[in-house]
Amino acid sequence: DVTATKGNEFEDYFLKRELLMGIFEKGFEKPSPIQEESIPIALTGSDILARAKNGTGKTAAFCIPVIEKTDPEKNYIQALILVPTRELAFQTSQVCKELSKYLNIEVMVTTGGTSLKDDIMRLYQPVHILVGTPGRVLDLANKGVCKLRGCSMLVMDEADKLLSPESLPSIIQVMSYLPQNRQVLLFSATFPVTVKSFKDKYLEKPYIINLMDELTLKGITQYYAFVEERQKVHCLNTLFSKLQINQSIIFCNSVNRVELLAKKITELGYSCFYIHAKMVQSHRNKVFHDFRNGACRNLVCSVIFLLIFSDVFTRGIDIQAVNVVINFDFPKNSETYLHRVGRSGRFGHLGLAVNLITYEDRVNFYNIERELGTEIKPIPADIDQAIY
Ligand code: ADP
Ligand code: MG
Repeated sequence: DVTATKGNEFEDYFLKRELLMGIFEKGFEKPSPIQEESIPIALTGSDILARAKNGTGKTAAFCIPVIEKTDPEKNYIQALILVPTRELAFQTSQVCKELSKYLNIEVMVTTGGTSLKDDIMRLYQPVHILVGTPGRVLDLANKGVCKLRGCSMLVMDEADKLLSPESLPSIIQVMSYLPQNRQVLLFSATFPVTVKSFKDKYLEKPYIINLMDELTLKGITQYYAFVEERQKVHCLNTLFSKLQINQSIIFCNSVNRVELLAKKITELGYSCFYIHAKMVQSHRNKVFHDFRNGACRNLVCSVIFLLIFSDVFTRGIDIQAVNVVINFDFPKNSETYLHRVGRSGRFGHLGLAVNLITYEDRVNFYNIERELGTEIKPIPADIDQAIY
């Protein structure tokens, strides 16, 4: 994923020599595709909305232009990097520190769950780049200790998570402390409606970079059945008997549940393969390959498998023969839902998705529907065979 496509070199961007040294010392030889797209544009000062898969080097895609544009001689915060979690804040600040190792740039990290007093004391010293979670940054800004009037760059990483209804108000308030002519760089692996509406409202003529294979829910009829946990297997059995399944993929949320369910399905008299993260890769590949070749009608798999093989699935579950996807366990977020149920737009074929929803899933259910701007309907007694 981090191999260059355009054949650019980091030297092509006329970066400060000290920054180049930091980049090479991190072991980066050539920019990754998202870096090739983002760095030159970010350096021009444009707003950016960039979308690329996980693991493609988004952190350096924004850290490099941010560091390049930061003037170590000016002792105030020039860039604010907002991220959704504490762990990510620490990781991101670490990358920033490493890349700016040969420059006199001060990177500070601030998140909830750490001493507010320490952060306030730290802000009496020079800070050039501030990395943090929205709540804490807002706290410090409201107290007047974190001065953002000179902060002309705002980065939002994992914008899909960052712009959740819980943290959006803090972000909007933080933005009111920034100067009018700030540059906004928005990075995300998915593009839910929350990100879209934020972009429309707060980004100025953004440059859109999209390195994702589009996944779409178009053509997929989505249903839910409200069940209790202990009814799930029975419900699945009913689905198997009622639906005209060509091939199906059934998703569970853990390795254990995959194995248990595969066993249950076999006991019910249906053929079934399964794959999950604890299987060795070569075995997993073989099972997937055989399933693709039609050796078995049903495949049970787990989320974890999906993440490891996300490239296989973002190309769409482009196994044409799969006409039914069942979320035996409902996914926790819209990204996972889209990866499981969505198809590559370019194929445009039909499919059916059935979600087993328990009482605990209902909040997730509404969030996912809203974020994806889609509708999941209650399952009818009779399903028209023509729609899948
Ligand atoms: P993302 O945020 O897109 O999920 P990260 O920024 O976390 O991806 O980067 C993923 C991994 O790729 C990290 O280990 C990072 O050090 C490495 N990486 C990033 N850019 C490059 C590059 N140009 N060359 C080699 N490795 C890179
Ligand atoms: Mg990232």
